Amino acid sequence: MSSIQQELVNIVGEDYASDRREELFTYSKDLGTSQPLWPEYVVAPKTTDELQAVVRLANETKTPIVPLGGGLTLAGLALPQKGGIIIDLKRMDKILEVNEQGRYIVVEAGISHGKITSYLKKNHPNLMHSEPGAPPAATVGGNLAIHGQGDLAHPYGFNTDMVNGLEVVLPTGDIARFGSCAVGSGWYTMHPLPDIGLFLGWNGATGIITKVSLKLYPCKKFRENNMFVVENEEFVPDVLFEISHLGMAEDLIATSSEIPPMMNRLHYISIINTGDSEEELEFKRHMTFDVQLAKYIRSGVGGIVSLYDERTRPQVSKSADWKKGGGFEYVGAIVPVSFYPECYRRGSEISGRHFIPYTVLGRVIGSCHSMMFSWSYAFNRADDATVKHARDALHETDELVMEINGTIWKPAIFGQKLMLERMDQGALRLMKEVKKILDPNGIMNPGNWEVD
Ligand SMILES: Cc1cc2nc3c(=O)[nH]c(=O)nc-3n(C[C@H](O)[C@H](O)[C@H](O)COP(=O)(O)OP(=O)(O)OC[C@H]3O[C@@H](n4cnc5c(N)ncnc54)[C@H](O)[C@@H]3O)c2cc1C
Repeated sequence: MSSIQQELVNIVGEDYASDRREELFTYSKDLGTSQPLWPEYVVAPKTTDELQAVVRLANETKTPIVPLGGGLTLAGLALPQKGGIIIDLKRMDKILEVNEQGRYIVVEAGISHGKITSYLKKNHPNLMHSEPGAPPAATVGGNLAIHGQGDLAHPYGFNTDMVNGLEVVLPTGDIARFGSCAVGSGWYTMHPLPDIGLFLGWNGATGIITKVSLKLYPCKKFRENNMFVVENEEFVPDVLFEISHLGMAEDLIATSSEIPPMMNRLHYISIINTGDSEEELEFKRHMTFDVQLAKYIRSGVGGIVSLYDERTRPQVSKSADWKKGGGFEYVGAIVPVSFYPECYRRGSEISGRHFIPYTVLGRVIGSCHSMMFSWSYAFNRADDATVKHARDALHETDELVMEINGTIWKPAIFGQKLMLERMDQGALRLMKEVKKILDPNGIMNPGNWEVD
């Protein structure tokens, strides 16, 4: 047994540290098109103390570490680019506090979004958090590390805008807390302390998020998915703008896909309205369709597809079936809502060139302040040619995002390089300095957000 493996066993016990090939195998891959990359060790700490000891060991021995939550980004962001230790955080999953009146929840960052949702449903049914559309095993820490967004993005923005407090294990193994929890007065706000925004969106390259206070929001008793359809993509931004003017929808998503045929070349706008009573829902329906969207209906530009039925929200993961073999990966971009038509047209051309049925989706963030637009590419894991097509399509899409002046969201290493090449020199210098100060040995998820 190597000395690092022995030290890891000493810290977490032999059930939770491994250098065995059959166990490393599962950590060498993710669900996207990335080539396998092997760690040398995997360790699953249960407590912050254990995590600190692992990080200290890595720092002393200059061994790379990669924090891992659900491993669901699809973009290879938790694959060990330079070997080393994968720190699987899923055992750090406690709910530490729910403050019902202050509407926040404090959790360990390895907790899954699914666990929070089911806990709140059972114990605090009048509260909800913003859950990403990812599989429920996606963790809070992983989602914040990539600036995720969830089903409350339209009213409240990115999930990282909903953080009330943060605890982080730094690359030295020390702990730092941010927000009101840093002055010992509870986990209820990040303000008004000086802003130290060094950990969100960094893919774990500056520290490991261990505790988070997340804002909770009113959870209404009833929820319905109303669908509006337009044929011409040019109208989508206007329709979204009109709906967001009402400020009523909980989630607002436009989508179009080649499969099923009823979605092909049409744009479905999913409007999630909620209410505590039928009257509240009826009022929202009335305001949405009879008032705000009436002009589109009267002129024949768009129409209501369905009201208050059980229709599920658009799910890009369904596209994993298009090629059989269960593979899909997407490029997401954060763009202005007005970019929808061009993103759709150029994306469907890229799909066409690579023989992949197109699947696109745009989720409104804030009151039309921006949109997360995604282009999904299906592939068959057992067919290398389709994997190559998907990978090429992803790279072309990253380049497209740069060309239209968008920002790539949770970019794979390829996309990170494109973004860094274009980044403002002042910001680049600062990123380099921050990394040097926090992580002088370069052990934290190396390869990610790496400024040469
Ligand atoms: C079908 C599908 C739908 C999706 N829909 C959405 C969506 O609607 N919204 C959305 O935001 N995302 C979505 N995603 C993307 C992704 O799955 C989620 O963002 C997910 O929350 C990422 O969390 P994770 O735990 O899987 O992160 P991981 O993949 O484990 O990690 C992500 C990154 O964060 C780092 N990291 C992990 N934990 C920590 C930590 N505690 N501290 C510091 N760094 C850490 C990792 O090293 C990695 O770089 C979707 C994915 C799929 C497959």
